[in-house]
Amino acid sequence: PADSGKLGFAIVGLGKFATEQIMPNFKDCKYARITALVSGTPDKAKKLAQEYGVAEKSVYSYENFDSIKDNPEVDIVYIILPNSMHAEYTIRAAQAGKHVLCEKPMATSVEDCEKMIAACKKANKKLMIAYRAHYEPFNLEAMDRIRKGELGKLRAITSDHGRPVKPTEDKADSWRVVKKLAGGGSLMDIGIYALNACRYLTGEEPVEITAQEFSDKSDPRFKEVEDNIHFTLRFPSGVLASCTSSYSYSEVKRGRAFGDKAWLDLDPLSDYKEHTMKIGSDEGKQEPKIKEGNQFAAELDHMAECVRDNKTPKTPGEEGLKDVRYIMAIYEAAKKGKAVKV
Ligand code: NDP
Repeated sequence: PADSGKLGFAIVGLGKFATEQIMPNFKDCKYARITALVSGTPDKAKKLAQEYGVAEKSVYSYENFDSIKDNPEVDIVYIILPNSMHAEYTIRAAQAGKHVLCEKPMATSVEDCEKMIAACKKANKKLMIAYRAHYEPFNLEAMDRIRKGELGKLRAITSDHGRPVKPTEDKADSWRVVKKLAGGGSLMDIGIYALNACRYLTGEEPVEITAQEFSDKSDPRFKEVEDNIHFTLRFPSGVLASCTSSYSYSEVKRGRAFGDKAWLDLDPLSDYKEHTMKIGSDEGKQEPKIKEGNQFAAELDHMAECVRDNKTPKTPGEEGLKDVRYIMAIYEAAKKGKAVKV
């Protein structure tokens, strides 16, 4: 059968991202298939199970999730729940003897990230964080061009991520404005793309962070979580990165790297599709032709290959932990109004 040799994934949390982006893109996977669903909404789960050919016995609730350990069809558990639930379900999955792919942000505290890494290590299971940009052709090409020196010496990066959060219209946005579930506001949700991009574009870890935050506290959306946050990262080579994230901008997901010979622009940098790259220098501007690829399928296949071949994922738990550490330092810098060494 076409599915032989593919590893089985259980999808945990059948929300907007899982059902609209992840599940449909399994169709392009070479090594990954959906074999189980975990949901608190039985009707939705039943309907999706039929649509994706998942056996009724492989549909779980959050209560009976641990019995997934007895399901040999499930190799990997993919956690697509609200942020603060990532830790509990990753740990339960590892204890059930399953490998884990977990959405960003990895968790809402450094301690939770450390517990997740420890649980997967103890169970001898892989842990990968779903940083899809690392599997996306335009971003990979940007990393390659920067590493080869096409921009000259890298000097600066700017990246802006924003979208209007609308908890009244969108169920998916309701938990995003509740600190207990989201862990924080725009930074945890989308500013993390800017932060992660600064790290993979430079190939360095920041040494110092500054930040400022402004949220209109009379807006009911921002009673618990931040709206606008601006942060800077200083890297050991001297690269200065300047990033913004917001829950009240119109949709933006862009990034630009400035070298002493040329700049490289990705706009969008972190969308689901339709990326563009522009490179500019004193000689003019160009738009390299890059083939759009299915970043979701590439990411899922990478996870499956790592399990099959016993390899460490390109974006392991340790990568997710680093970003959560920097996010906490950004919040600290904003709160203290002082630079924080990291
Ligand atoms: P949704 O609200 O659309 O989905 C979350 C799902 O989690 C719900 O549908 C529900 O599924 C389940 N759930 C369980 N408990 C709760 C609870 N207390 N409150 C709300 N939902 C609950 O959110 P998203 O799909 O947008 O986000 C889910 C995760 O995916 C987040 O961590 C987010 O950061 C990440 N994400 C990543 C993206 C990326 O590009 N990598 C893009 C968008 C999101 P059920 O009814 O089946 O139980």
